[in-house]
Amino acid sequence: MKFAAVKADGQMDSSPERALLLAFGHPVVDQYLACRVRAAQIASIARLTPLTVLANIVNVVVVTPILAQVFPITYVFVWVALVMSLMALTTIKWFLSKRSPVELASQRALSAALRHATLLSALWAVVPVAAFASGNINGIWIASCVTTGMICGGGFALATVPQAAFRWVAILYCASVAALVIEQGVMMWPLLFLLTSYAFVVIGSTTAAGWLFASHFLAEAELEKHGDVIALLLNEFEETSSDWIWEADSSGNFRNVSDRFCHASGLGRSELEAMRMVDLAYTLDNDEARASVANLEKTVGIQKSFRELVIGLTVNGEDRWWSLAARPVYDDHGSFTGYRGVASDVTEARRASELASHLAEHDSLTGIGNRSWFLKQAETLLEEQTKTGQNTLTLFLIDLDNFKVVNDTSGHPAGDDLLKQVAARFTDISEGRTSLARFGGDEFAALGRFVSDQAASAFAEELVNVTRKPFRIGSRDFAIGSTVGFTRLRDNGDTVDDLMRKADIALYKAKESGRGRALAFESEMEREVRERRELEADLREAFEYGKLSVEFQPIIDARSGQVVSSEVLVRWFHPTRGEVTPDTFLPIAEHAGLILPLGNWVLRKACAAAAQCPDLESVAVNLSPVQFMDPNFVGQITSVLDETGFPPERLVLEITESVFLRDFGSASDKLQKLRNLGIKISLDDFGTGYSSLSYLRKYKFDKIKIDKSFVDEIGERSDGLAIISAVIALAHNLGLEVTAEGVERRFQVDALRTLGCDTLQGYFFGKPHANPMKITQVKIDAWNDSEAEAAQIEEPGTSVASNLKSGT
Ligand code: C2E
Ligand code: CA
Ligand code: CA
Repeated sequence: MKFAAVKADGQMDSSPERALLLAFGHPVVDQYLACRVRAAQIASIARLTPLTVLANIVNVVVVTPILAQVFPITYVFVWVALVMSLMALTTIKWFLSKRSPVELASQRALSAALRHATLLSALWAVVPVAAFASGNINGIWIASCVTTGMICGGGFALATVPQAAFRWVAILYCASVAALVIEQGVMMWPLLFLLTSYAFVVIGSTTAAGWLFASHFLAEAELEKHGDVIALLLNEFEETSSDWIWEADSSGNFRNVSDRFCHASGLGRSELEAMRMVDLAYTLDNDEARASVANLEKTVGIQKSFRELVIGLTVNGEDRWWSLAARPVYDDHGSFTGYRGVASDVTEARRASELASHLAEHDSLTGIGNRSWFLKQAETLLEEQTKTGQNTLTLFLIDLDNFKVVNDTSGHPAGDDLLKQVAARFTDISEGRTSLARFGGDEFAALGRFVSDQAASAFAEELVNVTRKPFRIGSRDFAIGSTVGFTRLRDNGDTVDDLMRKADIALYKAKESGRGRALAFESEMEREVRERRELEADLREAFEYGKLSVEFQPIIDARSGQVVSSEVLVRWFHPTRGEVTPDTFLPIAEHAGLILPLGNWVLRKACAAAAQCPDLESVAVNLSPVQFMDPNFVGQITSVLDETGFPPERLVLEITESVFLRDFGSASDKLQKLRNLGIKISLDDFGTGYSSLSYLRKYKFDKIKIDKSFVDEIGERSDGLAIISAVIALAHNLGLEVTAEGVERRFQVDALRTLGCDTLQGYFFGKPHANPMKITQVKIDAWNDSEAEAAQIEEPGTSVASNLKSGT
């Protein structure tokens, strides 16, 4: 705003009228400027003093003899004395003003000058009058020349003060007119005409000269004001902005060093004046700073202007960065005189942007690279390999094996701690060999050049091994391990995406084949994955077009031999592959995000069918861990129950241990909610997991299902029976019902009944069947005294009853 104010009142009106009025001494400008203009007017007349004095003396010498012929000598003497003393006074004044030039002049001073001019012209006016009056022809000649010369010379000498010039011309003109009238000669009219025209020319010229002088003065004053504004702004800029102006001479040394520059550089003025910008830039010694000095030196060397050229330097021992802009300066002859420009300290901005780019490229938890940085890195390396025709690039994808367990059992801070430790161990072994990144969660990746398959394989093994050693978190040790899939660049046609896909396939295969190992990609794997993808597409289509179905397998009460329940099993008959087992397509459904709608569909089918079979006490439905993890899971179940009107007490949900591995936090809560509704929970495949017994203690179930593998051991291993007996006893102690799965043979039935198993399921009683009504018709009459032989297990379940009967 300051700038605008200065401009407003500093705005000069340099219009012609204004200049003209100023020239004539009118107060059209402020007092100060008026004083300066007057001083300048007086000074410009005074400058001509030697010349005017000389001219006057010459004229006096020339006209005195003429005057002496006409006037008494005393008069002439008085006239000469007056003119000469006026000249003496003028000379003295001139000397004085030369010694101490005045910047400002009052109105009085100007008036004095006017009086001076008037007086002198009046003295010279005597000459023509006297000469013409005398009638002396020589005198008239001389006086005419002198007067004409005086009118012109004096008029021009006084041009900067038009008032003075006017008076001068007017007085001499009047005197000349008077002289012509007095003489009454024949040439009076032509001479009068000439005289008048000269007088007008001189008046016109002096007016123009006076106006020009004043205009110049006004313009100069305006410029000066602008200069003041600029200086003011520059000062303000120096004081308030973070930038500063710098100047250098032709040899590069700083000139006119400002306080701000001293402050920014931490150096004194004299120190800076002995330095060049490049000297400052050499004070910081790192790669980037060196590159910037080279750039500066090159630019300055060819005297080019530059902007946003960043240099590094040390200020009081600290690394700083300056951004420079400057242009070369040339003198009037066009020769280079140095540089003038602006500098600003951009250290903070640089730090902020460095931090931002660090954050954008690094994983905030572990400090190693992140996915996007890794991919960029991969692009660069791949490009380099393509150029040099190398094939050594190897990409590793690493997945931690039991990270979830740590996260779930010890909380997220422990999980974070573990990830940091893992990253540190990976960093240790990758140092100088690979670039390392965390992709998120427990996924890591490494990228490097490996000369042979063996070398790559050895590094992959190292990655696995380094995670095998226990990790100390808090007061506990965790063994986690990891799985690695990797691929080496085979042909140069591979893109980063191809490498990622291949390593991912290898990782997938490694996980599938039991984790805790490293596997290299093989082209065979790709075919499997393709097939899997095709299967996924087919499954999606089959589900959408209602090509899936369910079957029901009877579950028999061990005491009564009655069918009391049924397990519902999903079926898919593929048009070209034939029967695809649930063990094959369910993981695909889970992977493809199909399992939620699929599971819901099975549940709805099961409830609807069981509702039509009042003989079935309950119906058992299998649940995928993915369904169980769904936050809306309980709501989904209740809405299906509401829809079908199936009582929750008749529903059994079969879950496996993997549910607890994948969803730790809310599992207990969800189980309780389901049980509160009256739904029964059965722990499926009991004994196949790692900690079945501990889960029994931790969670509330209603049933367990002893896995087929234990039932198979009855009669095959000596301790087969003992294990089942112990499990049944334990379950009963906990108040749980026990079902034995995969019962295929008569002696298994007998043994399980003897051990007190509650319910039995298996081909012995019937294979899964599409019609639930058919399985409920199974009745085993001679259950108590039966000595039936093992059923022909290949037969469909509906024939079990007759098998049992005929087998006596
Ligand atoms: P599961 O829950 O252990 O189901 C029992 C499996 O054993 C069924 O195989 C069944 O046909 C088979 N089985 C029953 N009795 C005998 C027998 O005496 N001998 C032999 N060898 N096998 C017998 P299936 O139908 O192939 O199902 C395999 C697995 O797929 C099931 O194991 C279950 O975990 C899963 N599954 C099946 N249907 C569904 C479903 O609708 N949802 C979910 N989430 N999982 C399902
Ligand atoms: Ca089951
Ligand atoms: Ca099972």
